Amino acid sequence: MVTIVVALAVVGALSLLAVIIPRRGLEPDSMIDVPLETGRPRIVILGGGFGGVYAASYLEQLSKGDYDIVLVNKENHFVFQPLLPEVISGTIGLVDVVSPIRRLLPNTELHVREVESIDLEARTVTTSTGFHPHPHVLRFDHLILAMGTVTDFRGLRGLPEHAFPFKTLSDALGLRNHVIRALEEAAIEQHDEALRKRLLTFVVAGGGFSGVEVVAELNDFVREVAEHYRGIDPSLIRVVLIHSQDRILPEMDSRLALFAERILRERGVEILLNARLQAATGEAAILGDGAVIDTKTLVSTVPASPHPLIEAIALPKTKNGRIKVAPTLEVEGMPNVWALGDCAMVPAPEGGFAPPTAQHATRQARTVAENVVAKLRGGATQTFAFKGLGKMGSLGRRSAVAEVFGMRISGVIAWFLWRTIYLMKMPGWARRIKVAASWTLDLFLPPELVQLKLGSSVGVTQEHFEPGQEVFHQGDIGDRIYIVLNGKAEVLRDDQPIAVLARGEYFGEMALLHQTQRNATVRCIEPMDVLALPKRDFSVLAANLPELRKSFEAKSNERAREMVA
Ligand SMILES: Cc1cc2nc3c(=O)[nH]c(=O)nc-3n(C[C@H](O)[C@H](O)[C@H](O)COP(=O)(O)OP(=O)(O)OC[C@H]3O[C@@H](n4cnc5c(N)ncnc54)[C@H](O)[C@@H]3O)c2cc1C
Repeated sequence: MVTIVVALAVVGALSLLAVIIPRRGLEPDSMIDVPLETGRPRIVILGGGFGGVYAASYLEQLSKGDYDIVLVNKENHFVFQPLLPEVISGTIGLVDVVSPIRRLLPNTELHVREVESIDLEARTVTTSTGFHPHPHVLRFDHLILAMGTVTDFRGLRGLPEHAFPFKTLSDALGLRNHVIRALEEAAIEQHDEALRKRLLTFVVAGGGFSGVEVVAELNDFVREVAEHYRGIDPSLIRVVLIHSQDRILPEMDSRLALFAERILRERGVEILLNARLQAATGEAAILGDGAVIDTKTLVSTVPASPHPLIEAIALPKTKNGRIKVAPTLEVEGMPNVWALGDCAMVPAPEGGFAPPTAQHATRQARTVAENVVAKLRGGATQTFAFKGLGKMGSLGRRSAVAEVFGMRISGVIAWFLWRTIYLMKMPGWARRIKVAASWTLDLFLPPELVQLKLGSSVGVTQEHFEPGQEVFHQGDIGDRIYIVLNGKAEVLRDDQPIAVLARGEYFGEMALLHQTQRNATVRCIEPMDVLALPKRDFSVLAANLPELRKSFEAKSNERAREMVA
């Protein structure tokens, strides 16, 4: 609704003033190089997951103070993804699956920012805007790419709007909150049987490791807490797993996969094999054969797609968009650029390629770190030789499947092994003790039912400016478009005033439309209130309202001509 109002406001304001002319590339004057130069070679790591954090940690261990390490990550914490499904049921605390990167990497310079662009020729990385939208440019001598993959629902009808991805801490928390809300609603919607059934149907698409672990936790959770809701008939609860192949856990031995299937079915999970999720609405999951499952909760753990930044840069890649690297993990034909983890296609010692798992990413991190140091110090590089220790998947309540050291284990022993191994893999003893305590208490205490309502931090916001205050500066990164609600601002190009903006006018759109920097400064001259629409929302509007985009472009051309004249 808000987006529509803003769209109308923006369209209504189209007749107004020229502010920005598109201009490509970074202006050297406006770049802010961070951190300050030390004269030592700089190793920049992009991504603070298993690959990035472990690479930085090994580099710290190998350091003799002869290089600097910089790590850029969207969040200031490292997420231990294998335990993320347990956040749904609250078996472990929310912050127990994350660790602060600063504590893990005391000798690494951490930049909690989003990587905006990578310039392999100039050997720089530009990070996104923080509180102030000026670009930060990081020079590198060695670049380590460890940004993982993204869950990309593009091209799948209705999934971007209605399916829950499951990859980050906020995905897990968002899903948990939604599930509790669905239960709360189901408990009071006594008069509408169809709606109650929809609220009590939970669908997970993808029968690989993460899908199976998610459905197992979700199933345990909803069935266990349902008894606390007097208005819910537990027999109405449906938990459905959709999988496109003829058995779940295709990565595992078929006997273990069949065991997993049996346990899940016994616990009430309906498993639909050879079924493909085709589309979604706010009310249903629609399958490839036209079958419709009425639901208010759809989680999709597939597809894992290449990271858009990796897609955008000119590096050798495989068909599935992963970066081709040599067995040393150096990118083919790109000296001093390295890639590892889920974003890379790493040749495995036994032939084929290493699977995208945490155990492989952490071993690749060691190889990368040792090879970068070897190149800096003039030593010999080595090849990635890790063959994998095995595979494990949790099935929820005291059951798991494991293939370790050539043995196949299932049930409670596999579950105990799973917990012990992951506990020992968690970074730091403090975290291990907390998780062990949570798991022990969970054996005796009922599951936590608190729904955390967090306000949304995105979307349209209103901002106020006082005279003399800059909204943005020439050369800043374009991160949002503004609509003046009241007050005035002047537009300055190279410090020369060129226009005044007043109520009903908008500014800041061209940098967004053309992915360029701001080419003018906007400074408040009378107390001013504006509506600010973030880049992401603006891009959605521009992509889906061709008339809106055309109007912007026509106006910007007119403005460009006026400026040239
Ligand atoms: C639910 C789930 C369960 C799993 N369970 C297991 C398991 O039991 N065992 C196992 O071995 N593997 C498991 N995996 C797989 C494992 O987590 C991945 O293989 C591993 O995380 C890959 O590491 P990575 O460093 O390549 O990517 P990631 O760990 O995904 O890290 C990528 C990092 O890059 C950051 N990033 C991305 N884009 C940007 C940007 N533009 N700017 C700044 N930072 C950015 C992200 O925030 C993230 O921190 C699981 C995965 C999931 C999702």
